[in-house]
Amino acid sequence: MEIKIIKNENPKAKPDSNSLGFGKFFTDHMFIMDHDYENGWHNARIVPYGNLSLSPASTVLHYGEEIFEGMKAYLTEDGRIQLFRPYENAKRMNNSADRLCLPEIPEEDFVEAIKKLVEIDKDWIPTAKGTSLYIRPFLFGNDETLGVHTVHHSTFVIILSPVGSYYKEGLNPVKILIETEDVRAVRGGTGFAKCGGNYAASSRAGKKAEEKGYSQVLWLDGVERKYIEEVGAMNVMFKINGEVITPALLGSILPGITRKSCLEILKKEGIKATERLLSLEELTKAVENGTLEEAWGCGTAAVISPIGLIEVNGKKYEINNGKIGPVSQMLYDKITGIQTGKVKDEFGWTVEVK
Ligand SMILES: *Cc1c(COP(=O)(O)O)cnc(C)c1O
Repeated sequence: MEIKIIKNENPKAKPDSNSLGFGKFFTDHMFIMDHDYENGWHNARIVPYGNLSLSPASTVLHYGEEIFEGMKAYLTEDGRIQLFRPYENAKRMNNSADRLCLPEIPEEDFVEAIKKLVEIDKDWIPTAKGTSLYIRPFLFGNDETLGVHTVHHSTFVIILSPVGSYYKEGLNPVKILIETEDVRAVRGGTGFAKCGGNYAASSRAGKKAEEKGYSQVLWLDGVERKYIEEVGAMNVMFKINGEVITPALLGSILPGITRKSCLEILKKEGIKATERLLSLEELTKAVENGTLEEAWGCGTAAVISPIGLIEVNGKKYEINNGKIGPVSQMLYDKITGIQTGKVKDEFGWTVEVK
């Protein structure tokens, strides 16, 4: 792929590492590439970060034709820049594209574009403990018509954002609210695709949870509202009676790369891990009879987010006395260790940016 580069002649001052937060600051450049069915992907370019210009009739603004990815670049102690399983993001982006009838991107081009952009903005990778450079690739339908048709013109963009440590003092368990009215996704819908529309559907429950002082929503299945699906923007795992259980991927759940990595680590560590249906009833029984040992969410942003309490229909269930458990801690240490080069990558997950 040929990438045209236009350097930013007015680079910004870098933010202080204590003020980073999540997705508030953006680097000096962005990657853009266009697609239509006559020319395929064309005009790949890295240009100064700035506003996009769109027609007010652009498909994405009316019919939600948008998919995205989320991943990070990490600086190792010996100064190397690493990506974590970027080909998994490339594959998932193409699965999402297929579901929304957006064009697929060759995996090599997806990874090459990320590497080139990160390389150009490498001075933006924060160095303080727990910080990283968040990478947000996104792809949207960009036809200038209000007619509802298969998308013809699409735009692919990558932006970068230095992000702070998710945890200021150790891994603090979060409180989760189980949503029993709204649903996020149904089988046959777009739950397995990483698309903006899923987030639009989940915003009302998210608002309710936030107002009640909960950090995330735990979703139940969209048909029977009986089975556990996932937590906000994370997948979820429970350790019940020595066995780790996570909901099986049956179409309505986002197939997380952190989830997949957790399962592979658990297997290697000899801890039994099962993907299956898990009902809310089974879960609350396990809390009541004391067999629920640990619960955690897993996703790129927080890596592992221990769950200390869940509330359903006004009833509160405390998990592991509101403290982080040993398996959650082990997974966190292992994954972040591999990402930052402190733990040997025996899985071959990391890809260096040259
Ligand atoms: C991105 C995302 C996840 C986590 O996926 P990772 O690849 O582990 O970051 C889980 N659930 C939803 C809804 C997501 O959008």
